[in-house]
Formats: sequence, structure tokens, C-alpha cells
Amino acid sequence: MARMRSAEGILRTLWSNSVGMADKLLPNPEITALLADVRRDFFENGLALLHWAVDEHGAKNSLSASDLAAEFVPYLQSSEQLRTAIVTQSIRTLERDAAKALGSLVNSAALTLGILAVLVVVAVFFSRALFSPLMRLHSDVLALANGNNDTPRPVPAMAQEVDDIFAGLAILRDHIGAKRALEEEQRRLNRRLRRLAETDTLTGLLNRRALLTRIDAVFRRADRIGETLAVALFDIDHFKLVNDTHGHAVGDEVLAGVARLVESTLQSGDFLARIGGEEFVIILRHMDETTAFGRLERIRLLLAETPVQTATGLSVTASFGMAMRPAGSEIDWDGIFSLADQRLYLAKNNGRNRVVVDGISPETRRRA
Ligand code: GH3
Ligand code: MG
Ligand code: MG
Repeated sequence: MARMRSAEGILRTLWSNSVGMADKLLPNPEITALLADVRRDFFENGLALLHWAVDEHGAKNSLSASDLAAEFVPYLQSSEQLRTAIVTQSIRTLERDAAKALGSLVNSAALTLGILAVLVVVAVFFSRALFSPLMRLHSDVLALANGNNDTPRPVPAMAQEVDDIFAGLAILRDHIGAKRALEEEQRRLNRRLRRLAETDTLTGLLNRRALLTRIDAVFRRADRIGETLAVALFDIDHFKLVNDTHGHAVGDEVLAGVARLVESTLQSGDFLARIGGEEFVIILRHMDETTAFGRLERIRLLLAETPVQTATGLSVTASFGMAMRPAGSEIDWDGIFSLADQRLYLAKNNGRNRVVVDGISPETRRRA
């Protein structure tokens, strides 16, 4: 009996707590009505029946279990209905909450999408308005710094400040372009001046100055590759007579004609320069004395036989002095020139129109 009382106490406490929670969690008139029914059926009538059964029949056991159950079960009916109503209501509440949760999920997804869209728009805007112009500016400036002055691809429409920067860059590019054009023009003029300074205007050949500028390098190269050079000096015979007879202009044309004719006999690497009025230098490379002499003889004969001025059909002769310069020789330009000049003098003295190679005239050479 004491155990029953204590169980009943716990039951009632649980019940009153549950009723409070049910009112809060499941506020529903049907459940409120059923709670009242259960209080009446179970806690009043049902428990009263159990008390009566225990009090009246406990010791004598005159009331059978099935009789008691038959009497007690109807009092549980409202409890059963309450359970069904609570389950139904709970399911409804869960469904409603699920719909609510889905709604708020959709809302938050839409909100997130909105924020993302704004971020994308901001990113695209910054990319268009700031980053890509800056990257473009960066690459344009790098191109300029690397000497590429070509007009770049057109710049898309942008904010005024960025436009201004590109306009400034375009001005800088134009200035650099103009400066480069001027520098190129200056280089071209310098090349032209140098060519003019080194060229004999009448014949188009290298002049004395050009020869002297190059000769050291020619000797050094010959020494390096073990090459013997033939240095010849020739002077037109009785040229003063040409001037005196036909005039200075014809004399000029003769000089130009001689230059053209001798030039036409040159081989790759040979050198021809006009070093004075009617004096010329020929340098032949990879030569032995006999071959060099042979080539100069052919030039001499060609000159003597070929008219070099159209109007008069004039031909002239020339005298040649030649000196050989073996690779590694101690002799410098002045030395070798002086040797060739002495032999030219000999050629003149020995009757002109001849080649002297070693102080012995060709006639003497032939006789020997
Ligand atoms: P040689 O056989 O001894 O060399 O006698 P040459 O008359 O050739 O020598 P000379 O030195 O007496 O005369 C050279 C002449 O060449 C004198 C000069 O007026 C002439 N001459 C020098 N330079 C030029 C030039 O550029 N044009 C013309 N037309 N004549 C020139
Ligand atoms: Mg002469
Ligand atoms: Mg002369």
C-alpha cells in the first residue's frame, strides 16, 4: 500500500509537470479538453477505483483481476485519446516547423545568392575599372621599358582618372617614338657622314684616310691567319698631259674610269683605295709574289688596252710598285708603303707602264 502511494505521488508529479509542458508545447483546445478528461477519468475515477480495490479487496482478494481490469480500462480511454491527440498534434507541429525551416532555408539561400551576386558585381567592377587597367598599364609600361614602342591594342572605355593615365602613357610613348626616330636618323646620318668621310667622291673608292683606318686591322688579321699580303701602289702615267690636252673634266672622268676598270678585276677580300691625285693602292690577300705579279700585270695590260673615257675613247697606262708582306712581318704600313713607292719610282724611271716587285724590272726579271 505504501509502495502504491509513493508510485501514485511520482505519477501525479510527472502528470502535473507534463500538463504544464503540454500547454506550452502543444497549445491546442482538443488536448486541453483531453487533459481535463484524463485528470477526471484516470487521476480521479481510475485511481479511486484502484484505492477502493486495494482497500476493500486487498486482503480478502474477493475482486478478480479481470473484474478490476474490466472496470478500470474505460478510465484509460481518455488517456489513449490524449496520446493519439498528442502524437497527431506533434506530427502537425513538426510538419509546420519543417515547412518553416524550409522557408527560412530558401530565404537564407536567396540572401546568400544575393550577397554573392553583389560580390561578383563588385569584383567585376574592380576588375574592369581598376585591376585590368592597372595590369594593362603595367604591361604597356614594361613594353615601353623593353623598347617596344608599337602602338598598343586600343584601351576599353574606363574611368576618367584611368583614361588620363593611359593618355599620359600614350604621350610618353609618342615622345619615346619621336626620340627613337631622331636617334635612328642621327645614326643614319653618322653612317652617311662616315661613309662620305672615307669615300673618295670622284671615284667612289676608299680614300687615304679610310685605308689608314683599316690597314692595322688588315695586317693583324693577316698575322693571325698566316696570310701573305701583296701591297701595290700604282700611278697613272703622264696624267698631267691628259688634263692639259682634254681638260680637267675629262681628266676626272679618266680617273673614275680607271677606278671602275681596276675595281672590276678585284677578288673577294682585295682592297682598292685612291690615296692621292692619280695614285692608287691595291692590297691582294693570300698571295705569293708570282701570283701577285701576274695579277698586277693583267691589270696593267687591261688598263693600257681599255678606253676609260667615253667621249674621247682615251686609254691610259700606269706604273706599279709592289711589296710583299709575309704573315708576322715586323714591317708596318709606312715601311711597306715606302718599299712599294720606291719600286713605283723605279717603274717610272724604267719607262713607265710596268710592274716592279723587287727593285728588278720585269725585263731584267725575264732576262734572268
Ligand atoms: P707621271 O707619269 O710621272 O706620274 O706624270 P704625271 O703627269 O702623271 O704626274 P704629275 O705629278 O706631273 O701630274 C699629276 C697630275 O694629276 C697633276 C694634277 O693636276 C692632276 N690631278 C691631280 N688630282 C686630280 C684630279 O682630281 N682631277 C684631275 N682632273 N686631275 C688631277
Ligand atoms: Mg702620274
Ligand atoms: Mg702622281
